[in-house]
This record gives sequence, C-alpha cells and structure tokens, in this order.
Amino acid sequence: MLELKKINKSYKTGDFVQQALKDVSLSFRKNEFVSILGPSGSGKTTLLNIIGGLDRYDTGDLIINNKSTKKFTDKDWDSYRNNCIGFIFQSYNLIGHISILDNVEMSLTLSGVSAKEKKQRALEALEKVGLKDHAHKKPNQLSGGQMQRVAIARSLVNNPDIILADEPTGALDSKTSKQIMDLIKEIAKDKLVIMVTHNSELAHEYSTRIVEFKDGKLISDSNPITKEEKNEETINIKKTAMNFTTALKLSYNNIKTKKGRTALTAFASSIGIIGIALILSLSNGFKIEIDEFEQTTLSQAPIMITEQAMDLDEETIEELAGNNLTKYPDEEKIYVAKDITETMTHTNVITDDYMEYLDNINQDDIAGISYQYGTNFNIINKSSDGYQIVNANNMLLQSWTLLPSKENDSQNTLIESNYDVLAGSINNDEPGLILQVNSKNQIYASTLEQLGFTGEEEEVSFEDIMNKELKVVLNDDYYNQVGNYFIPNQNLEELYNNENNITIKVQAIIRGKEDKEILTSGTGLAYTNALTDLIISKNKDSKIVKAQQENDYNVLTNQPFDETTTKESILSYLGAESTPVAISIYPKDFTSKDNILSYLDDYNENKDENEKIQYTDMAAMLSTLSGNIMDAITIVLIAFSSISLVVSSIMIGIITYISVLERTKEIGILRALGARKKDIKRVFNAETMIIGIFAGLLGIIIAYILTIPTNIIIENLSGLANVAKLNIIHAIILVIISVLLTVIGGAIPANMASKKDPVIALRTE
Ligand code: ADP
Ligand code: MG
Repeated sequence: MLELKKINKSYKTGDFVQQALKDVSLSFRKNEFVSILGPSGSGKTTLLNIIGGLDRYDTGDLIINNKSTKKFTDKDWDSYRNNCIGFIFQSYNLIGHISILDNVEMSLTLSGVSAKEKKQRALEALEKVGLKDHAHKKPNQLSGGQMQRVAIARSLVNNPDIILADEPTGALDSKTSKQIMDLIKEIAKDKLVIMVTHNSELAHEYSTRIVEFKDGKLISDSNPITKEEKNEETINIKKTAMNFTTALKLSYNNIKTKKGRTALTAFASSIGIIGIALILSLSNGFKIEIDEFEQTTLSQAPIMITEQAMDLDEETIEELAGNNLTKYPDEEKIYVAKDITETMTHTNVITDDYMEYLDNINQDDIAGISYQYGTNFNIINKSSDGYQIVNANNMLLQSWTLLPSKENDSQNTLIESNYDVLAGSINNDEPGLILQVNSKNQIYASTLEQLGFTGEEEEVSFEDIMNKELKVVLNDDYYNQVGNYFIPNQNLEELYNNENNITIKVQAIIRGKEDKEILTSGTGLAYTNALTDLIISKNKDSKIVKAQQENDYNVLTNQPFDETTTKESILSYLGAESTPVAISIYPKDFTSKDNILSYLDDYNENKDENEKIQYTDMAAMLSTLSGNIMDAITIVLIAFSSISLVVSSIMIGIITYISVLERTKEIGILRALGARKKDIKRVFNAETMIIGIFAGLLGIIIAYILTIPTNIIIENLSGLANVAKLNIIHAIILVIISVLLTVIGGAIPANMASKKDPVIALRTE
C-alpha cells in the first residue's frame, strides 16, 4: 500500500546543494514495525517527512494505494496527513497554550468531527497511553515521557493506518524509553509503524524489520518485500477543514498567554475608534440639539410672503454658484451665468383671492398671522425743534410684525412667549404704536425722531416715551386739491392741531426674550391692527382717493403711471385698499409648519408663474446652513482621526508578524496534523479579529466614558447639557470597522504564515 520508487531529494542552501536522499526505493507492508537506522545527517528525517506528505520529493514517485502521488494537490496531501498519518516527534511538538485534551483532539478538529465524539475519542486515546486523568493539564505541567505519550495519543486519535515516529525516545531516559517503546509496539499490532532511531539496541528488540541508511542511500533491509507479496490493501482519504470557531479558540487561548501585550495593542488600536466615536457622539448630539431648536424655536419663525420673494431652494443656490459645471474646463465653450435677481426673486401679487385663501388656513396650525399694509399714514409729531412729518413706511419695523389679532387669541400667547412687555400693555383693539427695544434697551436715533424727540438724547425714560403724542392727519385735512391734482398742506402746526386727527401713543415697550434672540432681534416701531383699520376706514372715501379711482394718472403728481407707481400702488398708499404688501404666518410647531407650507404650495398648483405666490422660509434657510456646517466639520475631524486608524492597522500588521514568528512551531504542528494553508490563515485572522473586537469594544467603552467629562465641559462653555451622545448604530459600525481594519492589517502576515514550509516550521525552536 505504500511504496517509494527511486526517490531523490536535495536541499539548496545558496550555491550548495545537499543531496538528502538518493534513489531510494522501498515498500512497506500494511502491518509491520519498521526501524530506520543510520548516522546523523543520513536522510532519515527527510525520508519520514516525504512518506508523511510533509515534504515533497524531487524525482521518483511515492505510491499510495497503488496510485502515483505525482498529481497530488496541496489539498490531497493535507487530507492524507490528517487521515492516514500519525506523527510522533522527538521533541513531542505539543501546542503549549492549549490543554492536553485539546492537543489530542486537534486532528479530529481538523477533520470536522463533532465536539462530543471528539472528546470521547480523545479521552479513549489518552486512556490507552495512561493519561486520562491529566486531560485538562497544559503540556508544560507534564514530564517528558508523559508529553511523548500525549503525542502518541494524538497520533492515534484519528485512527490512521501509518504512524511515523522520528526518534521518539531521543530525549528520554532508558527506563521511560522502554515504556514508550512498549506502547509503540502495542500500536504496531494493527498498523504500519515507521520509526527513526539511532538506538539499534531498541530497534532490534522491538521492531519486525530494520532498514539502514547512509549518506541518503538505503544500504540494508532486514525484511524486504518479495515479489510474491501482493499489496492490495488500501487506505481511505477524507478531506479536512478547520472551522472558524476552532481557529478562534486556538487564537483566543494563545492570546490569553500574552494578556499584557494584547491589552496594550488593543488599547493602541482603540485610540482611533475613541476619537471617531467622540466626534460622532458630539456631532450627533449637536444635530439633535439643532433639530430640537428647529422644532421648537425655529419652527415658530414666520413664513414670510413679501412683494419680492426669494426663491432660495438648494437647487437654485447650486445653479447660481455654477456647481453643476467643472472648474477650468478644457472645452472651447462658453456657458451662461445665471443672473441672481432673475433666478432668485419672484414678484408676488397678493390678490383678494389669495387673502381669502389665507383666511381658510387651518386655525389650529397657526399661532399668529400678521399683515403689513402699504398705506401711508400722515403722521405729524411735535418736538422741541418744532413740527415734523413722519414717513409711516419708514417707521414700520419690517421684521417685527408679531401683533396680536382680534380673531386669534393664540397670537397673544405667541407674543407673551417671545417678548417681555417692559411698559404699558398691548391692546390690538386700540389704535396705537408698539416700541421694540433690543437686548440692551437700545433704539435708533431715527426712531426717537419719529416719536417726536430730537434724536440727540443720550437716554429717554419709559415715561417720556409713553407720554409722547403723535397725530395722524386724515387725507381730507392733509391734501388740498389744486386743479386736477393734490398737494399736502404745508402748514404743519395747523395740521397738528386739526381736531379730526387721530391721536396715537406708544402703548407698550417690549423686548425679545433672552432665549428667543434669533427671532426677536430687531428694534423699532410697529402699529396695531386697529390703527390700520381705523385709518383705512376713514381714508377710503376721501376726496383724493375718489379722484384717484376716477382718473388714469397719478393725482399726487399729475404724472402718468409707470412701472413702479401704478394706480393700485397709489390707491394702496392713500389707504383705499386693504390688501397687505407683506404677510407673516407664525406656525404653532414643527408639524403645523409643514401643514402650512403644503397649504401654501397647494395654492400655486396649476397657476401661471406670475400668479404664483412664493414664500420665504427663514427657518429652513438657517437650519440647512447650520446642518451643512456641522456635516463639514464632522467629516474633517473624522478624516483626522482616521489617520490613527491606519496607524493602528499597520501596528496590528507588525504585531501579527511577530505572532507568526512566535507561533511558527505551532504552524508546523498544525500542518503535520493535516491543517490546510487556509486553516493557518484562519488561525491568524482569528487572532487579529479577536484583537479587533477587543479594540473596538474598548474604544467604544472609553469613548462612552469620555462623553461624561466632555458634556460637563460643553455645558460649562455653552450651557447645553448632555450634548455628546453615542449612537448605538455608530458604536456597532465602529466595532465592525475596527475588526475589518485589524483583519486587513494582519492579512499579509497571516498569508505569510500559511505559506510557511511545514518542515522548516517544525525545525524552529
Ligand atoms: P537525519 O534525520 O538522518 O539526521 P536529515 O534528513 O535531517 O538527516 O538530513 C539529511 C541531510 O539533508 C542533512 O545533511 C541535512 O543537513 C540536510 N537537510 C535537511 N533538511 C534541510 C533543509 N531544510 N535545508 C537544507 N538542508 C537540509
Ligand atoms: Mg533526523
């Protein structure tokens, strides 16, 4: 069943060629105990390694089961070693970091036997060599003789047909040697045992056949196979494969023997993970903070409908910036740049139809709605400098339109939640003015002038402001008809003292609340709805309005209309029309804001471009901006931290390389037991994977702990509590990345390990 035909084997070291075997032809019976004798260096070990499939012959052939092995693949050799061969070495070659039982089980493990059967068979084998009670010890807790018996048990456990023993008693005293020889002889009863020894006494005492070698050549054979002897018995060969859990167990036990180093390595590779986890938890926290801000504060920012709307959706901005084009193009082409005013602005014509549409908005969604009119009030004040006309359109605080309305109580709540009333009270049913000061109680000098002060005052008391009286002169008193047009009365004193005038005062002084600064930062004057209503009701039937309605020229100048001064705009200016020029809608919250926006969008459906009414969503513009900045910062920081991930990846490569060097012997043993190259790779991949998981988990735990001081620092700096929050998904992804990077880092050394020559690996100490 086993036959060597003219086997030649030589080793090259540099230019020197050592012929280890020369034309060796030798056949073996299925059941005999062959001793191979010969001086050191005569090629005995080489012969054994070739028979065992651990080393390859150069020329000749090894016949197994009457079949040539010339065409054997690596896999075939692996299976052959695992199933048919049991090795016993002079230096025992047990794997030091796993138990006796695990050592014996190893070749069963490699051939995929179930755990239960494996244990049973291993214990049986250990019982045969008298070491059942020592199954859970580590190899270094046994004597030399005991270790060799473990090695014998290991060689037997897979029930191979051939046992190869290379000087099994070489390291043992004579008494122990005899015990081992007895054991081997017992085995040889139903197997082929080929034993190398230089103890010819033992050889002659125990074996059934003695073969002698010298200088790589067979020089004698005490019992050669005759031509009549037929050799038809066969041996069967099964495939082997180590599963990944075995690889993990093997590496886990190995790692346990070098805890300190593993912990340091894992800690070093966790630093990148810690960095990224912290950055992610911070940006995650800030995003949540921004979202909350958006949902509470920003969602209450008004949706504004003005005459000129800005159409600033993301697409338009991209287009304006020319982001769809490449920089420094090679084509000989010219592209048209988008004009900002044309692209961005849209003229809204607010019609009665639209006002009606707004009236039907779901009242549950809105906290308030306010209108600005283009109506000019003829306001005259009196200061120490004399009488003065105030342009009511300049007086209006453009961004401050949060006036309570008669119909909508919630608007009052909206004001209360956004502003502190410092003096007086807001009564929207009473015609009057409201003065908003900034966070430092400042207003502009021009506002003071509008109120009837000189504008040179350093400070003015609330009382003085509240006591100031302004007069609104009605159209019929203000304008005098001259032929077919009208001119204002120039006598301001007379106008100021007209008894038809409406007297107005500052009703209330208000200031934006501290935490609502973004929305309430303006200063200036605003007026109540009641004032607008009153003035429009008095002026809409005035002579000048009637005249303007009847004539197709500007009755204020006697000039024809043009693009900006239309009949409508003059009528609106004179207080004949009550269509507002600007509308601000205040949503109650985030969801109601969405409802309002979609309601407003619905209006534009199927409308011509010039009939569409477009709104400006300040909050959305603000939050997209802050969201984008956050993303950019996060990406930059992560890129920096990733460098440390690359560094740790390289470090893992080096550590694995060292581990490969340390575990070279183990590689040889595993290969001798039938492990495939792939299995060796698995062992080291398992090792890096364990380190990767460990590093990832360590990184996440440390990062999680670090969020506590980070949050304390941030709270002290910005007042925001619990910003850094580690997202569980991020944590899981980071552990996976850590594992991937360490496995990649260890891949090259693991590959090197798998390619190691098993013979050389076994020779290393
Ligand atoms: P033995 O086991 O009989 O002492 P070996 O089979 O180990 O002898 O070695 C036979 C010859 O081949 C020796 O001269 C040895 O130096 C040489 N040899 C064995 N293995 C190698 C190797 N891997 N590289 C180079 N020379 C080797
Ligand atoms: Mg030898």
